[in-house]
Amino acid sequence: NSRWSLTGMTALVTGGTRGIGFAVVEELAELGAEVHTCSRNESELNQRLQEWSDKGFTVTGSVCDLSSRPQREQLIEKVSSLFDGKLNILTNNVGTSIVKPTIEYTAEDYSMLMATNFESCYHMSQLAHPLLKASGVGNIVFISSVAGLVHAPVGSIYSATKGAMNQLTKNLACEWAEDNIRANCVAPWFTKTSLVENYLNGVEGKKFLGAVASRTPMKRLAEANEVSSLVAFLCLPAASYITGQTIAVDGGASVNGFP
Ligand code: NDP
Repeated sequence: NSRWSLTGMTALVTGGTRGIGFAVVEELAELGAEVHTCSRNESELNQRLQEWSDKGFTVTGSVCDLSSRPQREQLIEKVSSLFDGKLNILTNNVGTSIVKPTIEYTAEDYSMLMATNFESCYHMSQLAHPLLKASGVGNIVFISSVAGLVHAPVGSIYSATKGAMNQLTKNLACEWAEDNIRANCVAPWFTKTSLVENYLNGVEGKKFLGAVASRTPMKRLAEANEVSSLVAFLCLPAASYITGQTIAVDGGASVNGFP
């Protein structure tokens, strides 16, 4: 049934070699989409592309640092030439954090996080707009965070970039509805990815993750494919009247007032 299929659609997923982005690439490809992705590490990207081709998925990739304006422009040029000037799905996934008390952030920390997490998805949405419009059915999905909805101790700059994404989702949904482009936002809670493994691998990190699980009603972290399934759903024709929403994937964490 075509309401539950992405066959014939094209997608760009930023940061698809690991974690949530990786799961989104596989989910969209499995539902029939042709996917382009990117990351900064060429050998890891090539390895993933080989694995996807072995699985029978149609995925291509570019090396691109999403925090760079000229590299974002090159990425969209590439996508435009690959997909004939059209794009159905843009998943703005790239993001990172530096965790410090607010008074210790430097100007460099601020610029790096703003460029990587927010400016990148703002500019990618601007650049993708003509392609999304030309496709006739466009979808943008932002990967935000529960940290953009409530306080979580993962850095105030990170949380502010996610809060900005949540608002941008609403603006684009209303501004671009006339172009048949929907915009939605997925807000995960702590998810088992390389980001979490790298930051929270020590004794203190393990303790912190234990505390996260204990205040989460479902008492565990998310798997990346529990996030990617919502991303895919939002892009399906079956979700054609859903726009401007931020939806948490969080095992109940953000509605739990009595942890
Ligand atoms: P990971 O660090 O595990 O994966 C990030 C992916 O993006 C990798 O493929 C990485 O490849 C790529 N990437 C990172 N920086 C850049 C860049 N500047 N340019 C291009 N590619 C880049 O992250 P997650 O999967 O955990 O996170 C993905 C998104 O989900 C982020 O926006 C994050 O904020 C959000 N999120 C994650 C949560 C979690 O608990 N994991 C919770 C809530 C939200 P490479 O490094 O080689 O470039």
